[in-house]
Amino acid sequence: MSKRFDAVVVGGGVIGCAVAYELQKAGVKVVLLERGTIGQESSSAAAGMLAPNAEADQDDEFLRLCLKGRALFPRYLEELEERTSQRVEWHQSGLLRVPGSEEEASVLARRYQWQKEAGIRIQWISPEEIRELEPHLKPTTRHALYLPDEANLDNAQLTRVLALAARSRGAEIREHEEVRAPILDQRRVLGVTSTVGAYYSGTTIYAAGAWTTRICPTEETSIPVIPVRGQMLALRAEHPLISRIIYSRDGYLVPRSNGEILVGATVEWAGFDKRNTAGALERLLQAALNLAPELESATFTRAWAGLRPGTPDTLPILGPDPFWQGLIHATGHYRNGILLSGITAKLTAELVVQGRTSFPLEAFSPDRFHVSAKTQSTTR
Ligand SMILES: Cc1cc2nc3c(=O)[nH]c(=O)nc-3n(C[C@H](O)[C@H](O)[C@H](O)COP(=O)(O)OP(=O)(O)OC[C@H]3O[C@@H](n4cnc5c(N)ncnc54)[C@H](O)[C@@H]3O)c2cc1C
Repeated sequence: MSKRFDAVVVGGGVIGCAVAYELQKAGVKVVLLERGTIGQESSSAAAGMLAPNAEADQDDEFLRLCLKGRALFPRYLEELEERTSQRVEWHQSGLLRVPGSEEEASVLARRYQWQKEAGIRIQWISPEEIRELEPHLKPTTRHALYLPDEANLDNAQLTRVLALAARSRGAEIREHEEVRAPILDQRRVLGVTSTVGAYYSGTTIYAAGAWTTRICPTEETSIPVIPVRGQMLALRAEHPLISRIIYSRDGYLVPRSNGEILVGATVEWAGFDKRNTAGALERLLQAALNLAPELESATFTRAWAGLRPGTPDTLPILGPDPFWQGLIHATGHYRNGILLSGITAKLTAELVVQGRTSFPLEAFSPDRFHVSAKTQSTTR
């Protein structure tokens, strides 16, 4: 079997589905290949926070990309709902960043200063104000950061709705079809071979998350995507205990409208091992109880783990492959792939259709990993 499309997208996570939707919307005929089912990996394991400010320590290109990514969501979700009649649960709940020590409180106070100067809506609130916002949190004598624009959504639902929207625009979404290798012709990628057949295309987009390195054309020219395990669990309290994201250095709580409170997440370099471990779950539970002691009587509902697509410098990998024409990367989103899904898709579609992007991608270019390899290939 051999078929021709304008673009092949590899990977049916939130990034691949968003890219397929945006390309098809721009009139590019797409096939998306997913080796299992849509959203089966990191995109369903995530906590769904759209929270660029909670951890940002400087005003740089990455923060600007994240802020752009968050800003487009309200309209983006409306557009998806109009297209599919499916509503993605989303709340602009705000986020409370609580310090665990005096030292951390000073770090957060500095963060407050520079974020405020950068024009970000942020407040430095007193213990009384914390109590007013979230009466069930453990009482504190320290101030906390309040970020009213941070939001959260149901990430598994978002991924499914994006696939549905892409399909409704005419994209072909093929599940249970694993991509084996790219089809190469000298310095060009002409498409991919899969467990079912061959797909030829003008553009091939790699959005295979933590597995992207495995399908790069050669080892020497591959991009470094590293699996970073995140374990999470969920609790159900008898009555609502929190109404916004509560974020601390040791863990976070995300309230969902079905009554669950998600507790996350570990950051572990454990290869492709997706197990839940006793020690990690114990630490997550401890962090949750430290934040909201009343969770002690909550029901434990489930635990899971996912593999984030990490990179050596923690930045995403976006843009054309420096060696292989016709290959574009949309991966390496590490801890922010849900937040960055819409903006990644828009910029990738601009790249495919117009050959340039409305936001500079230099800081995220796959080129940054290949300085020495490129020198070698030009001197050889
Ligand atoms: C515990 C946890 C919490 C997180 N919380 C947040 C959060 O709050 N906010 C946020 O923005 N981000 C969060 N993230 C990060 C976010 O989940 C990821 O950055 C994002 O899901 C990456 O999406 P993706 O589509 O690139 O990868 P994935 O969702 O992993 O999708 C890649 C897909 O490619 C498929 N694939 C791989 N190889 C092949 C092949 N050869 N052929 C065909 N298909 C293939 C896989 O089956 C998979 O479905 C979290 C992650 C974890 C693990």
